[in-house]
Amino acid sequence: MTASGHSHHSSAPRRIALVGATGTIGVNCLDVAAHLPGRVKVAGISGHSNIDRLTEQARRFQPDWVAVSDPDRLEEAKAKIPSGIRILAGGNALARAVSAPDIDMVVCAIVGAAGLESTWAALEAGKDIALANKETLVVGGSLVTSLAKQRGAKLLPVDSEHSALFQLLQEPGALGRVERLVLTGSGGPFRGKSQRDLLAVTIEQALNHPTWKMGPKITIDSATLMNKALEVIEARWLFDMGPEKLGVIIHPESVVHSFVEFVDGSVVAQASPPDMRLPIQYALTYPDRVPGPTRRLRWDELKSWNFEQPDRQAFPALDL
Ligand code: NDP
Ligand code: MG
Repeated sequence: MTASGHSHHSSAPRRIALVGATGTIGVNCLDVAAHLPGRVKVAGISGHSNIDRLTEQARRFQPDWVAVSDPDRLEEAKAKIPSGIRILAGGNALARAVSAPDIDMVVCAIVGAAGLESTWAALEAGKDIALANKETLVVGGSLVTSLAKQRGAKLLPVDSEHSALFQLLQEPGALGRVERLVLTGSGGPFRGKSQRDLLAVTIEQALNHPTWKMGPKITIDSATLMNKALEVIEARWLFDMGPEKLGVIIHPESVVHSFVEFVDGSVVAQASPPDMRLPIQYALTYPDRVPGPTRRLRWDELKSWNFEQPDRQAFPALDL
C-alpha cells in the first residue's frame, strides 16, 4: 500500500495450479483468471473424467501441464490434448506438479475426500491454498490446519460463507474479539417443507437449487442442509472456533454470506450477489481487491433481505 492507500501491483502474475478444473468451481476460477491476466497465470489444470472440457480448457489457457486422474480416460486425453502440453497421469504425478517450485498457489476444487491428496501435497511444499474442497477439512481438519501452520502456508477459503468470514476478520487480532461466527444458508429447494413433505421429493427437485449453480454433490447436500453442517465443521477448523461459537441462520436471498458478532455486540456482514467468482477472486488476489467479472449488487433493485431460523426437525443434519 502506498501512503495514499492505493494498492500497488507490479509483480508477475501468480502462477496457479487448478485441481478440479472441469467442475463448477474450476470453470468459475478459469473465468476469473481470464479476466485478470496480469494477476493470474494458469500453470496447470487437472480433471477426472470430462476430457472434452479439459481439452477445451487446455487449448484456451495453454497451461504447462494437464493432469488426468481417471486412468480409464488417459488414452482419450492423450489423443485430444494439444501436443506441447505435458499430460500427467495419476495422483503421484499431480502431487509432484502442485509442489513444483514454479507454482505459487494451488486452487483445490476437486469434490469429495479425493481432494485431500493434492491439497496435502501442496501444503507439504508450503504452497498457499485457495480451498473450495471443504471435505479436506471435514475429513482431516486437525492434521491439515497444523500442517499449513507448520509450513507457513495460507489456507484461503473459497466457500462463500468462509470467504465472507475471512474478509470480515482481516483486522489484526480480530479472531480474539469474536463472540460468534454466524453462517448464512439459503435453506435450499426444500425450505419450508416438513419432514413428511420431504418423503415425497425427487432428485430432480433436490438438484434445482434456488440461488446457486453448483456441482451435483454439494447441491444435494444443500437440499438436506448437510452442506451447512459440513460448513460448520469447515469453519471450526479454518477459524479455530468451538461449536458453541458457530451459528447458522437461513437467508433465502443468498446475498449476505455470513456475519461476525464481536464481543462488544457489533455485528458485521459481507454481502454480494450469489456468484462464486467473487470468493474465488478474493483468494486469488488476496490481500488485494481489484475489479473483476463478478455481478455487482444492484442497489436500485434492492428490496429486502430475509432471515429465519433453520428448521432442525425437518433438517436434522445440522444437529448431527
Ligand atoms: P463438481 O462436481 O462440479 O466438480 C468436481 C471436480 O472434481 C471436477 O473437476 C471433477 O472432474 C473432479 N473430480 C471428481 N472426482 C474426482 C476424483 N476421484 N479425483 C480427482 N478429481 C475428481 O463440484 P463443484 O465444483 O461444485 O465443487 C468442488 C468443491 O468445491 C466441493 O468440495 C464443493 O463442496 C466445493 N464448493 C463448491 C461450490 C460451488 O459453487 N460449486 C461452493 C462452495 C464450495 P471431472 O468433472 O472431469 O470428472
Ligand atoms: Mg458454502
